[in-house]
Amino acid sequence: MASINIDDVTKRFGEGTNEVVAVDDISMEIRDGEFVVFVGPSGSGKSTLLRMVAGLERQSEGDIVIGDTIVNELGPRARDIAMVFQNYALYPNMTVRENMSFGLKMSTGLSEEEIAERVESTAEMMGIHSLLDNTPGEMSGGQQQRVALGRAIVRDPNVFLMDEPLSNLDAKLRAEMRTEINRLQNDLGVTTLYVTHDQTEAMTMGDRLVVLDHGELQQIGTPLECFYRPANRFVAGFIGEPS
Ligand code: ADP
Ligand code: MG
Repeated sequence: MASINIDDVTKRFGEGTNEVVAVDDISMEIRDGEFVVFVGPSGSGKSTLLRMVAGLERQSEGDIVIGDTIVNELGPRARDIAMVFQNYALYPNMTVRENMSFGLKMSTGLSEEEIAERVESTAEMMGIHSLLDNTPGEMSGGQQQRVALGRAIVRDPNVFLMDEPLSNLDAKLRAEMRTEINRLQNDLGVTTLYVTHDQTEAMTMGDRLVVLDHGELQQIGTPLECFYRPANRFVAGFIGEPS
């Protein structure tokens, strides 16, 4: 498992008058095993921050440290993280079994047999065992999102990054998956960075909440601290406002 240090990290896109500061000099320390939820309006830099931790985007300034390693120069594969997206991002032409095995084949030294065993036991744990030979097109949105989670978990990563993973699900499924993600995270003890714009997820899922606006860190604290002692008017309005 791993702690994460985000150290004076800035990300700019474009140049000159087109320049956008997507993430503006953000620093935070995330403890090993912590579940941190990122909230903020659309365009506040949540996805960019996650993508930089994942190694999918390179910061303009600052350092990202995972465990004891400065990972600035490391690509996504070398960072030992798993990412879950809102649109599932499953391979449409592969079965669930193939979707879950693929990353393991690419990035671990496990044998075919060990991979098959891990896929089986993870599928069991996620309640998707009966879907192993189906392709994504044959499944509901809820099932696909379960598979996307299973595909992340089977890799046994040090860090989970989740970017609005439940936002395409209906309210009932969302509530069910919230509980499930918290249970899994608790059982596995994996450091998790979770982006949402859902008030309930923000207030109930994480150990700490990070509030962003215009790429700037507005507050970091427990959900209750942010709710009862907002650092500024923005946080008060954003957290207090029912969605
Ligand atoms: P959020 O996830 O909070 O909605 P993003 O991180 O996606 O916000 O975006 C933050 C800002 O960076 C926005 O102004 C967005 O338009 C800009 N941005 C994000 N990705 C790119 C990109 N690849 N090229 C140019 N601008 C980008
Ligand atoms: Mg986003």
